[in-house]
Amino acid sequence: MVKCSSVMSSSMIIFLVILSHLMSINGHKMTWNDSLLAVHVPGIKLRRDAKAIELASQDFGKIVNIKPDAVLYPSTVNDIVNLVSLSYKSTPSFGIAGKGRGHSLRGQAMVDGGVVVQMTSLNGGKNKSRIKIFKDPKLGFCADVGGEQLWIDVLNATLRQGLSPVSWTDYIYLTVGGTLSNAGISGQGFRHGPEISNVYELDVITGKGELVTCSRNNNSELFFAVLGGLGQFGIITRARIHLDKAPTKVKRVKLMYSDFASYMRDQEKIISSNDDGLNYLEGSVIMDYSNPIGWKSTFSPDDVLRIKSLLAQHKILYCMEAVKYYGYSNIDSTITEAEVDSLFKGLSYVPGFIFKTDSSYLDFLNRVHLDELVLQPLGLWDVPHPWLNMFIPKSSIINFNQRVLVDFIHKQNKSTGPIIAYATNRNKWDDRMSAVTPNGDIFYMVGLLHSVLDGDWKSRDILNNQVLNLCKQNGIEVKEYLSNPKTKEEWINHFGSKWMTFARRKELFDPKKILSPGQKIFN
Ligand code: FAD
Repeated sequence: MVKCSSVMSSSMIIFLVILSHLMSINGHKMTWNDSLLAVHVPGIKLRRDAKAIELASQDFGKIVNIKPDAVLYPSTVNDIVNLVSLSYKSTPSFGIAGKGRGHSLRGQAMVDGGVVVQMTSLNGGKNKSRIKIFKDPKLGFCADVGGEQLWIDVLNATLRQGLSPVSWTDYIYLTVGGTLSNAGISGQGFRHGPEISNVYELDVITGKGELVTCSRNNNSELFFAVLGGLGQFGIITRARIHLDKAPTKVKRVKLMYSDFASYMRDQEKIISSNDDGLNYLEGSVIMDYSNPIGWKSTFSPDDVLRIKSLLAQHKILYCMEAVKYYGYSNIDSTITEAEVDSLFKGLSYVPGFIFKTDSSYLDFLNRVHLDELVLQPLGLWDVPHPWLNMFIPKSSIINFNQRVLVDFIHKQNKSTGPIIAYATNRNKWDDRMSAVTPNGDIFYMVGLLHSVLDGDWKSRDILNNQVLNLCKQNGIEVKEYLSNPKTKEEWINHFGSKWMTFARRKELFDPKKILSPGQKIFN
């Protein structure tokens, strides 16, 4: 059902008339004529000044720089509807990308010569909150949140009512629309699935400029397309998200393994267990030359010394991080040591190498931002990030560990930044959605999170390509996550059996290939 698209402000009408006129003068190629700049149109938040263009041509990756012709700072959803409609009706059309926090890695939210829509300007300020919390008779507690909202703001708003979303990303200064366009994964995923599995309903502006409400039962094709759809099918302006009772405290437990097979076995045991024991499971790989900044937070100085000595002995350690939530009410406001220990009984970590810390639920979910606050002033945050994130099926993970982590990356003897590696359940993903996962019931999320301090991101790119080639040569199936833009053939390979559906949905919802061209799938 098309919900709305028609309420156009008079200033927007003036803007569109002028623009259409300029376009017809220009004939075939859409250009942003300078005379457009001279026209003062009150209420239209379209900017072409150097500052706006510069901001829209950067992202967290700090590797590519692509300039749009203009940036829209919408104050209403209709501003975006009108812009997309304009492009759709133009010949040729012009590219448009929703930009959330711009925390993509390679220009995925950029547009070469079109318009970037700075989604966060939709946020109406304190008195016009676009986060609404309510109880649905059938669904239970939900939040309707603007696509431009940061997850940290969603968390703060829901916590005020003792509630919380259940699935997260590790870093939560990201927008709802930006993460739902990928999947949104973290250590809660084994239990609740990615963020996209916890959405009930969306409002989406399609590439035809139509504002459509969709869900599993209503306009379901669009709903499934958009979730994990890399911004290709529509701009998310509202998401209805599942909420549950929020804990107030967490126990964070880290366990060290020197043997990958044991690490893997224990991870899989935890995620396959049906009891409601642990709430979060992740893990990382520590190499003897890894920069301690990447792993030592939450360890005491004495523990760091012990771990370093274990590292000297084994060269590579695998650090599982598991979390137990508690403090839902006065009754469970504490958790005993015995209760915590019972959660890890029978696991095969190195004896004595179990480390427990307490944290508030908020600080735990916000942990990467707390690291950011430390790294930012040291100049260690705003640096190039040529990350490689991969999903590896359980059937290939031992091979991956040996061929890639042990025989290749470790032998490079070059700090790569944090390496994360943890298991998750595939049955918590909905295969009708656009997000791509490997085969099998369990797969591993492996991330090489390079932070380049010497400016040489190209050598990390070479290393990433070597990793992907090694996987290919050794028959290790890899599905990239937050994929770097690829050739058409590589994209077809990436989507595999989902490609035909993905391409058909593009024809259906964005036939003129207007949206998120920076992903370089159809453009
Ligand atoms: P942007 O970079 O602004 O946009 C991403 C893509 O979505 C672009 O193609 C853009 O056009 C499109 N888009 C933006 N807004 C909308 C919208 N409203 N509707 C439709 N399309 C839109 N990801 C995880 O899954 N798990 C993690 O643990 C995780 N940790 C991270 C940690 C850090 C420090 C960083 C920088 C990133 C991390 N990410 C993680 C990746 C992150 O989820 C993605 O990069 C996400 O796209 C960032 O959101 P954003 O708001 O910055 O999106």
